[in-house]
Amino acid sequence: MNERTVTIQSPTGILPVKRNEPLSRYTTFRIGGPADFLVRAATRDDVLAALAWADQHQLPVTVIGGGSNLLVGDRGIRGLVVVVRAPSTQLDDQFRIEPDGQDHALVTVPAQAPISWLGHATSAQGLAGLEWTAGLPGVVGGAVVNNAGAHGGEMADYLVSLTLLDTETFDLVQWTQAMLEPRYRMTTLKAAPRPRRWVVLEVTFRLPYGDRAELQSRVAELTRWRRVHQPTGACAGSVFTNPPGTYAGYLIEQAGLKGLQIGGVKVSERHANFFINTGTATAADVRALIAMIQEVVQQRFGIVLVPEIEQIGEE
Ligand SMILES: Cc1cc2nc3c(=O)[nH]c(=O)nc-3n(C[C@H](O)[C@H](O)[C@H](O)COP(=O)(O)OP(=O)(O)OC[C@H]3O[C@@H](n4cnc5c(N)ncnc54)[C@H](O)[C@@H]3O)c2cc1C
Repeated sequence: MNERTVTIQSPTGILPVKRNEPLSRYTTFRIGGPADFLVRAATRDDVLAALAWADQHQLPVTVIGGGSNLLVGDRGIRGLVVVVRAPSTQLDDQFRIEPDGQDHALVTVPAQAPISWLGHATSAQGLAGLEWTAGLPGVVGGAVVNNAGAHGGEMADYLVSLTLLDTETFDLVQWTQAMLEPRYRMTTLKAAPRPRRWVVLEVTFRLPYGDRAELQSRVAELTRWRRVHQPTGACAGSVFTNPPGTYAGYLIEQAGLKGLQIGGVKVSERHANFFINTGTATAADVRALIAMIQEVVQQRFGIVLVPEIEQIGEE
């Protein structure tokens, strides 16, 4: 591939392919070395065109969404990175609601939809179950892969099926919720080794009808809660999963590690399970801070903290 400008023809138009594109521009941590090639895919057609192009050029593919749960290595990612996300303004015609019995509806949304938008959009239709997504960064695809959750809810709760692309055969396949084997911040999709075979294209939830005003007020309340309780700044959410019966943030705070800094990354003063990129952090800094915190917490409490953020790419 020697051409200087590389593009992919999608039914929706021409998609520019960026070379040596810094992934720090696509992660909420603002950390990550270059992708050999990177394309943004805002529609299902764009995703299919990007994957066909990678197949044609025999490039390994990494799909990311909002990049809000990722620590990308300082040497970046080889092959093609496909960024599957779209602004909510482009999604209204892709959001399908079908009544299912008297009290429920089936809601189908594309993987590229912002997850927080989904909570707002469903509650505005008087549909309950996804209010907890209010204010959560990232998109539906990434949230399903992670089985993201908050305030007692998680993605798998009301999910009934998903449409995936099998990148080995280019077939579209339907999975049930059970095939995801959802557990705490984990699914079969997340556990699969890279390069991964499955790409999430669309997700269907079965949601009960509720009181629209109450649902919308809950969404507003949870959005406010995030604004007050969550640290601001470049981060990737909770760094560690909560060990059974306790909280990772509590253990880190009790070990006196709030504010600890290595290189450009620091344990948040507001929430000890969040690390903040002060502006110059590298993935190596974050890994060093993770290792130091794991060691101190294990010595002090005998508990091994397990990272929740996913570490991908080359160091
Ligand atoms: C401030 C902040 C607060 C957060 N709070 C929470 C919280 O309360 N609860 C929680 O669970 N998480 C939280 N997170 C983490 C994160 O927001 C969620 O895990 C989110 O759902 C990840 O979505 P994403 O689109 O950013 O996924 P990414 O980080 O881009 O990707 C996550 C995984 O999904 C894969 N992936 C993405 N899209 C697709 C696709 N279409 N097909 C196949 N694979 C795909 C990626 O390869 C990767 O393995 C927080 C993060 C931040 C920055």
